[in-house]
Amino acid sequence: MITLPDIRGRIAKDAALAPVTWFRVGGPAEFLVRPADTEDLCALMRQLPLEMPVTAIGAASNLIVRDGGIQGVVIKLARGFGDIVVEPDGIIAGAASLDVTVAEQAAASCLSGLEFLSGIPGTIGGAVAMNAGAYGGEIAGVLDWAELVTRAGDVVRVNPVELGLSYRHADLPLDAVVVRARLRAQPGDATAIAARMQEIKARREATQPVRARTGGSTFANPPGMKAWELIDAAGCRGLRRGNAQVSELHCNFLLNNGEATAGDLEALGEDVRARVERSSGVKLRWEIKRIGVPG
Ligand SMILES: Cc1cc2nc3c(=O)[nH]c(=O)nc-3n(C[C@H](O)[C@H](O)[C@H](O)COP(=O)(O)OP(=O)(O)OC[C@H]3O[C@@H](n4cnc5c(N)ncnc54)[C@H](O)[C@@H]3O)c2cc1C
Repeated sequence: MITLPDIRGRIAKDAALAPVTWFRVGGPAEFLVRPADTEDLCALMRQLPLEMPVTAIGAASNLIVRDGGIQGVVIKLARGFGDIVVEPDGIIAGAASLDVTVAEQAAASCLSGLEFLSGIPGTIGGAVAMNAGAYGGEIAGVLDWAELVTRAGDVVRVNPVELGLSYRHADLPLDAVVVRARLRAQPGDATAIAARMQEIKARREATQPVRARTGGSTFANPPGMKAWELIDAAGCRGLRRGNAQVSELHCNFLLNNGEATAGDLEALGEDVRARVERSSGVKLRWEIKRIGVPG
């Protein structure tokens, strides 16, 4: 029987993951580990057998966990990774901090440049891993450094070039976990910052199914094109498979209307890709990460 190293944080075996994902689908984690803090995570990594797969998740707002669940260790950063330190020209945020909380802290400190984060429902760790962006801002434009815990259990600080950030992508070393990041900001006008955040909120609520079981943009925009326009032109708006559906409001979003499985959502996404390729010749690239084993 496999046992994990003794750490200060929490370890659950065969732990349900669906309840912690935005889509509310997917099978269990063989081990769901919530390390107490960075030191605890380093200790875990150092002692884990190398053949044990490691997967980090944040708010799971950009994930389809497959129905067969995830083998090995799933690391979900919790309270010990939520500190936010405000500096005169930036913010140092723990990777479990929500993007919106960081945007609000920046606003409360009259720092501008991080308003775009208020529209992204994930964590800072997920934002670095995905080079998240919205409304003209993205992580690559504000990141000074990120700290990672490597598979060997070391903490390393990397800059954006070393991270190879590109559109909704970072070249993170295999199995590395982002634990902290410093984001640049500039002193700004409190009223203007609040107005920008309000504008982002209103635009999002009008154009995205923000209260649904969804995973954000399903496919990355191909260069010079909008994925949603290609999906719409291929006649996929509202397309269904079981309880999975292409959103009527924003057709680059998939929805779980209640009892969809990860298999339904992934198959619907593949159907959309095939239809778009037939109608436009463009092969869409999944932006949502699909992880784990099929059911
Ligand atoms: C309604 C809605 C709207 C959205 N709008 C936007 C948008 O405007 N712009 C945008 O960019 N995204 C958007 N998204 C997608 C999503 O919020 C972002 O991709 C976000 O950055 C993912 O963060 P997360 O913490 O949820 O990461 P997860 O979904 O948990 O994980 C995403 C990826 O990051 C990796 N990861 C997560 N945490 C870590 C970590 N600490 N260390 C290493 N790897 C890690 C995971 O392994 C996975 O590969 C939206 C999603 C929803 C549901």
